[in-house]
Amino acid sequence: MDRVKLSRLAVAGLIVTVLSLVNTGASAGDSWNHKRAAVSLTYDDSLNVHIDRVAPALEARDLLGTFYITSFFEPFRARVNDWRRLAHNGHELGNHTLFHPCEGSGPGRGWVSPHLDLSKWTAQRVADNILMNNTLLEAVDGRKERTLAFPCGDTLAGGASYLDRVESEFVALRSVGGTAPKFTEVDLAAIPSYMVNGNSFADLKAQVDNAIAEERWLVFLFHGVGGEHSLDVAAEVHDQLLDYLQLKREQVWVAPTVTVAKYIAAEKGPAEGRKTP
Ligand SMILES: [Zn+2]
Repeated sequence: MDRVKLSRLAVAGLIVTVLSLVNTGASAGDSWNHKRAAVSLTYDDSLNVHIDRVAPALEARDLLGTFYITSFFEPFRARVNDWRRLAHNGHELGNHTLFHPCEGSGPGRGWVSPHLDLSKWTAQRVADNILMNNTLLEAVDGRKERTLAFPCGDTLAGGASYLDRVESEFVALRSVGGTAPKFTEVDLAAIPSYMVNGNSFADLKAQVDNAIAEERWLVFLFHGVGGEHSLDVAAEVHDQLLDYLQLKREQVWVAPTVTVAKYIAAEKGPAEGRKTP
């Protein structure tokens, strides 16, 4: 084969390589802000331990989390300035409704107080509850952009969905359960989350490793950390997870839900990012 043919083959090979990169949109492994995976650390129910234990543990490692606030809960009402400080430090104060209503009529829901039973509420009442919580949170942190986490993962009130009444007010909605999505699978109207309750570090590490291997957005859902809630994880296990995320920081983008969701919306375009109304 002569030199001209060889150089033509080299050029053809280069073109094929460039075209394959264009076709995939991005080279493998950089879907998540130039990293292989995204992790969001979310903490529900506005607990004292989130202020006293979790936020300092995150900040010591240069990490930011999302704290889903039910503003009627006592640790929020008693410590508004502490929550404001968390927001000032860069954490997201997400919306978890004013009063935390949940479906009380199903099996295993005997603990739901009758006055907070969604089966007896209207969709409009839940929507008003959520929108008022947004106003209150804006008064605390000055922000207009945040995400919503449905209490108990419930989306019906009196048998009707309340989501369409509030969805436009949020960057994204976090649900409970489901499989961590790949970039192309993300539905900003229903972001899955991995509920942590009594898990070992080995289990949490396996979730992170899987997200890295398969290039997924893993959202951890915590309540208590070292106590204060019936759904709980040991403080040492939580620390080990944060240390592991720090160790993997070249591969994992750790950011609040709102930050990752805004990144996805910008990359995909707002209409593409949401699959459900
Ligand atoms: Zn909750």
